[in-house]
Amino acid sequence: MEKECLICKQEFNRDYVVFEDAEWLIRHSEETNILGYFIIQTKRHILDLALASEKECGSYGPVIKALTTSIKELTDCERVYTFSLAEAVPHYHLHVIPRRENFPRAYKGRGITSYPTEPACASELVEEICLRMRARLNRLSERARL
Ligand SMILES: [Zn+2]
Repeated sequence: MEKECLICKQEFNRDYVVFEDAEWLIRHSEETNILGYFIIQTKRHILDLALASEKECGSYGPVIKALTTSIKELTDCERVYTFSLAEAVPHYHLHVIPRRENFPRAYKGRGITSYPTEPACASELVEEICLRMRARLNRLSERARL
């Protein structure tokens, strides 16, 4: 745990957390108005996967697969973008973003990194998708033993 780290200090909305185990936490993003934009983060303060434990590496794939599958089912998107930058907050977190068919062309592909961070999604919509995501991830984790 790093004293100055926003992720370690849990400076995020706990209502948006949809999955948590010993290694990983998944939450809906509080930035952008893209509904279904989730973040997977390590519980430990590590910069990148070079520092991941064997246990973290072992559960990483199943966690990403479960989230990606669920995003596709819940958002009807054409792509699911994933990337990690760790520039603003140097704690490993993966952005997992649905790209729907009507997505503005300027932000497709690499343009996604310049997508406006404000306004955020309406909290009622985020809370609704979080409910559905929690149910789905619970089901998947029982089946796959995440
Ligand atoms: Zn941290």
